[in-house]
Amino acid sequence: MYNLEFNAPVSNSKIFEDMIQQSTDAIIYTTPDFTINFVNRTAEEMFGWNLPEIKGKPITILHEQNLTLQQKKEMFSDLYSGEPHEFEDTRKCKDGSTFYCQIKISPLFTEKSRIYGYLGIIRDITEEKQNEDSLIKEIDLLTSLIGTARVIVAVLDRQGKIVYYNPYMEKLSGYELKEVKGENWFSRFIPEKEKERTRSVFKKAIAGHPNEGNVNPIVTKEGKEIIVEWYDTALKNDDGEVTGLLAIGNDITQRVEAEEKLKTIHENMPGGILMIGQDYIIKDVNYRTCEITGYKKEELVGQLCDIVCPKGSASKKCPIWEEGQKGFRGMDTTIKCKNGIKKPILKNAQEISIKGDTYILEMFQDISERKNAEENAIEAKKAAEEANQAKSEFLANMSHELRTPLNSVIGFSDILSKEVKGELNDNQKKYVSNIAKSGNHLLSLINDILDLSKIEAGQKQLEYSIFDLHEALDEISKLTKPLTSKKNIGLQMDMPSEDIRIYADRKKFKQIMYNLLSNASKFTPAKGTITIFASQEKDKLKVAVSDTGIGIPEADQATIFEPFQQVKPSKSSEHKGTGLGLSLVRELVEMHGGQVGLKSEVGKGSTFTFTIPDKTPTD
Ligand code: ADP
Repeated sequence: MYNLEFNAPVSNSKIFEDMIQQSTDAIIYTTPDFTINFVNRTAEEMFGWNLPEIKGKPITILHEQNLTLQQKKEMFSDLYSGEPHEFEDTRKCKDGSTFYCQIKISPLFTEKSRIYGYLGIIRDITEEKQNEDSLIKEIDLLTSLIGTARVIVAVLDRQGKIVYYNPYMEKLSGYELKEVKGENWFSRFIPEKEKERTRSVFKKAIAGHPNEGNVNPIVTKEGKEIIVEWYDTALKNDDGEVTGLLAIGNDITQRVEAEEKLKTIHENMPGGILMIGQDYIIKDVNYRTCEITGYKKEELVGQLCDIVCPKGSASKKCPIWEEGQKGFRGMDTTIKCKNGIKKPILKNAQEISIKGDTYILEMFQDISERKNAEENAIEAKKAAEEANQAKSEFLANMSHELRTPLNSVIGFSDILSKEVKGELNDNQKKYVSNIAKSGNHLLSLINDILDLSKIEAGQKQLEYSIFDLHEALDEISKLTKPLTSKKNIGLQMDMPSEDIRIYADRKKFKQIMYNLLSNASKFTPAKGTITIFASQEKDKLKVAVSDTGIGIPEADQATIFEPFQQVKPSKSSEHKGTGLGLSLVRELVEMHGGQVGLKSEVGKGSTFTFTIPDKTPTD
């Protein structure tokens, strides 16, 4: 028995009992046969039993399950050799609940070294256990994260030898860890061109300056390069010495490739691209912009946009920033070039947002060449029109000058042939008749030329009147009778029998019909047929002259209405003509506001159509 070395007002046994009762651990005293003899207050609270209830009960009342043989063996070997036995186990409370505890059983010896009982000290470690469990879980989670994460986790030692990498790196590189463990990382994975740079990055990291965001490729087993972005952390031991490097890497190959693709597209766009911030500063340009403006990229980026924009920030009239437009398309404007020239451009602009910042994206085409071509074309057209006008005026004058003497040739040959001034012999009659025929032919030719050139010179006016179509066509068929009957060609009409009133220039209408009918009879072999179709449509009269003649090759159909155009074989002496009839037809039809058309097949025939829009005055 200890004697406490001070003058306590109570007995030693009271002090010891207080100490036992105040203990935060449960204290249980059993007899040598493990019958409970005493429990302290903490034990009562811990197990839910009070002393009178539990006293005399076997200790196993607090066991959740029986001890295994092995446990018993270990315990008794300690206890019998006089040592306390410490272990962790679960224990059961009165209400059947269990808890995790740390137990220390000590044998109690008499002075004569005989065991007179056992002292159990029990500490509830449920909370610690839970903490430990969650720590283990965290470690498990981390391990499985490292195992399944789609990032590279690699550990290198101070020399750059591979200590560890995760399954993702195994998959990516094609090398299992066990294949390359202990090898030098740089020799195994880094392409030659990058070795020096990455080694120096590594050295810096080992020296305590870890690197973030370094990008370098690694070479896979297949020889492919994968681009990785690295985040390094130096690993240190308890003494703070760097023992190696933990490198976390992201495979950014696809991102880099996509960026490169975009960059290539951006640089190779046929148009210029400008990106401008809200501060009017040019943030980016593509190569084409430099080509068009003559500036280098670095001369443009960072500058105010009015370096190229004829309006720009100085004028404070940017349609997007000042006028609040979100964008525009097809603006016909100019761009200021380095040499001071303003080149014409066609510009689209759009407000865009990148990472929360707003920019204007301008895309433009250099249209200098197109503008030049347009101006040249306008000039050429003007010149051609002037030339045409001069030609028409010349022709009109010339034909007039020709017609006057020709009329006297015809007139005098008529007088001669009528033998008013004396008889002619047969030869003289033949010659005079030839003079008259040729004169008449020449006159009709000149008339055609005169008409056409007068129309082109804008001198011909239409004289509108309302007339009956049947009547007009009757007159024309009479006129063409000599042509058709000579070759025994049938002339048919295919049109409604009721009156068709048309509003047009009667003379011109007859001239159109005459030209078409005389062509049809000229180019239709003997015994053929010519049909005139006419129909009154909603807003126009449609007339067609169809023949069963030689037809017009497709290649000539497009040009046949042009002056002096003839289908090649007809240039032979067989069909005399000037190549002016159809162009006159087209001019006259178009003067009425109508259109001409042609369908033809060689050997089968041709159908010429024209329309006269209905412009009949309502009153
Ligand atoms: P011309 O008859 O005086 O030569 P046109 O302008 O009237 O002049 O006709 C131009 C050419 O179109 C003719 O030379 C002929 O080759 C062709 N052509 C016109 N009408 C017909 C037709 N009905 N059938 C076949 N060819 C035709």
